[in-house]
Amino acid sequence: MSTPALDSRLAPASPLNLGHYIGGKRVTGAADGRHGAVYNPATGVVRAQVAFASAGETAAAIAAAKAAAPAWAATPPLKRARVMFRFKELIEKHQDELARLITLEHGKVLSDALGEVTRGLEVVEFACGIPQLLKGEFSENVGAEIDSWSLRQPLGVCAGITPFNFPAMVPLWMFPVAIACGNSFVLKPSEKDPSCPLRLAALLTEAGLPAGVFNVVNGDREAVDTLLTHPDVAAVTFVGSTPIAEYIHRTASQHGKRVQALGGAKNHMVVMPDADIDRAANALLGAAYGSAGERCMAISVAVTVGGIADPLIESLRQKLAALRIGSGLEPEVEMGPLVTREHREKVRGYIDVGVAEGAKLVVDGRKHAIADNERGFFLGPSLFDGVERGMRIWREEIFGPVLAIVRTASLAEALELVNAHEFGNGTSIFTNDGRAAREFAHGVAAGMVGVNIPIPVPMAFHSFGGWKRSLFGDTHVHGPEGVRFYTRLKTVTARWPTSGAGTAEFVMPTMK
Ligand code: NAD
Repeated sequence: MSTPALDSRLAPASPLNLGHYIGGKRVTGAADGRHGAVYNPATGVVRAQVAFASAGETAAAIAAAKAAAPAWAATPPLKRARVMFRFKELIEKHQDELARLITLEHGKVLSDALGEVTRGLEVVEFACGIPQLLKGEFSENVGAEIDSWSLRQPLGVCAGITPFNFPAMVPLWMFPVAIACGNSFVLKPSEKDPSCPLRLAALLTEAGLPAGVFNVVNGDREAVDTLLTHPDVAAVTFVGSTPIAEYIHRTASQHGKRVQALGGAKNHMVVMPDADIDRAANALLGAAYGSAGERCMAISVAVTVGGIADPLIESLRQKLAALRIGSGLEPEVEMGPLVTREHREKVRGYIDVGVAEGAKLVVDGRKHAIADNERGFFLGPSLFDGVERGMRIWREEIFGPVLAIVRTASLAEALELVNAHEFGNGTSIFTNDGRAAREFAHGVAAGMVGVNIPIPVPMAFHSFGGWKRSLFGDTHVHGPEGVRFYTRLKTVTARWPTSGAGTAEFVMPTMK
């Protein structure tokens, strides 16, 4: 469902001008400022221009957040939760509109966009429980007539920097928890699909959030660097590629901020010889090619154990021949385009690399009829067999509809391969052997593990995050780890003397 007023402004001849959201309202970018094009990847048409915030405009958003922070921090958690309850209702009411905005700018199919909105909504539902989550701990009589309690207080202004592939869900991993904890927030979403985050900001205002508590600045490195170095920003959460995650973690840490920076991935799914072939093939199909492989939890490597490789590949080949590719707005379509023309060319380049490296290209997405479509950024699905660990197509994140098969002889060899990779975001095993599943779950070096679940994204009341070079920082996002990240601990020790002046104590007080 779309809003007619919005659609009439989407005509290619008059691209939308997207600015920022500061102090409770939309503001346009500076007339002489920089800007970038936002494409509809299914048509290749520019559907909007987005402003790139200058350092000064970003500082204005930080100032709005700073001004709003004290009153918001002093607002009782129960009242903050009520804003979250209203926000939840508004997301539910507008979920089709939000999903459509995602599909129009990202390209993923509408049902998947709706799923993304729902996974983000679940974090809002988690944040509705903030009075319970912020309850502290109390100890009576830690000493004679002395009581002690611990509480968690907000940090102040928090910042979020998010990737293109989940324009609703990834920002929603961050700001509902940060805001419910009593912080204010500045979001810098991806410049490739900024409309959905701007709409979420307007819904928060409609839900009753005071002006300035949540702000959106669109832009690129200039806005990001301002957030990383500004003295009034207390904490930064980043989700995106590993080189940028590392830069964010280093720079923000050097400027004294609390940082969590989630990076790239190369997720492996181990298929044991006893696995059900059709079930494993269906799981791989959705996990490797859903959202055109543009998911940080996409399966991009299938590790076969023993003799299951040949029948599994045959099943995948047949299913891929039937995969429906096209505009994400068409109801029967299963895979949409890639996000930009440049990204499509990068993915196509990796297929060339894999062939040159000697891997066997079983299904060639470059030859799919849709790949010749000049208007959208389409590429067919590709499947490589005989991939080996030295190859770039095993080592590097491709972030497209390309699945690599690596053949191994045993679970021990498969586990060693998964653990040898520099990334450790998600991983999965398909088997009917509980002992093998247990050994894998226990020994694998990854933050999120699935057993007969290809994409084990934790629910909102658990926390999401990877290991190794998939996460820089100490805490995962949302869930209990999110509450810890967006608050700091304070412990109060108190005595209310009944009489007398007491005595000077020159030694550490102890309990004897
Ligand atoms: P990206 O790293 O290019 O961009 C992420 C954000 O950083 C954007 O807001 C972008 O504007 C900003 N940015 C880009 N270059 C920058 C620079 N030089 N300096 C400062 N800021 C910069 O990532 P992307 O292409 O938007 O998203 C895809 C990547 O995100 C993939 O690597 C994917 O694995 C990763 N990702 C990871 C997770 C996770 O949970 N670990 C989740 C989603 C996506």
